[in-house]
Amino acid sequence: MKDQVEKLLNEIPPYVKLIAVSKTHPAEEIREAYNLGLRDFGENKVQEMIAKQPLLPNDIKWHLIGHLQTNKVKFIAPFVYMIHSVDSLKLLHEVNQQAARNSRVIDCLLQIYIASEDTKFGLDFNEAEELLSSKEFAEMQNIRIKGLMGMATFTDDAKQVHREFKSLKAFFDKLKQTSFADKDYFTEISMGMSSDYTIAIEEGSTMVRIGTVIFGKRNYPQQ
Ligand SMILES: *Cc1c(COP(=O)(O)O)cnc(C)c1O
Repeated sequence: MKDQVEKLLNEIPPYVKLIAVSKTHPAEEIREAYNLGLRDFGENKVQEMIAKQPLLPNDIKWHLIGHLQTNKVKFIAPFVYMIHSVDSLKLLHEVNQQAARNSRVIDCLLQIYIASEDTKFGLDFNEAEELLSSKEFAEMQNIRIKGLMGMATFTDDAKQVHREFKSLKAFFDKLKQTSFADKDYFTEISMGMSSDYTIAIEEGSTMVRIGTVIFGKRNYPQQ
């Protein structure tokens, strides 16, 4: 693991945050990555995140990167650092309520649908703009939308991956000039995984979510 982490940290520019995606891997492996200096970890399941969190140092920043069900928000609201996968106003409303209950402001990203596969979660550009212009969103005090997240199509076609990431960056730039014109915290574009992080960084990523390159192959399939 040490060589892989060092190689990644050398490759990734300093303005891009490395999030180690630890889903399916036990707490001991997370501790090993922690001891190499990593502090940001990504999980895609609430159950797994809440099982590991108490076993590990409390300066870890836990990123929820997978589809989040409304009824599970309460379990992570006390400690989650960032939710990358906000894909509805209803979910955002629940995050806002649970954050208030914990006297916190929870940082979130809107997950935007950029792939050509129809199995992936996310909002399309119109839905995201609708959400951001809603009265309900304007009244939420306990969430902060820090940026966007997207996943490219799983394909060998690098041009397509470039195109998809480019579209997310362009949408980010548009929102930065409109909905978030006076919000200097709107800074993050979470894009890039083990197979496509180099392309994502070229296209303007500020956060890469990398599992396999750090921890090796997962033992059971996860999306
Ligand atoms: C699993 C996962 C990753 C990391 O995938 P790797 O290919 O192992 O790097 C990134 N983002 C999300 C949303 C994931 O579910």
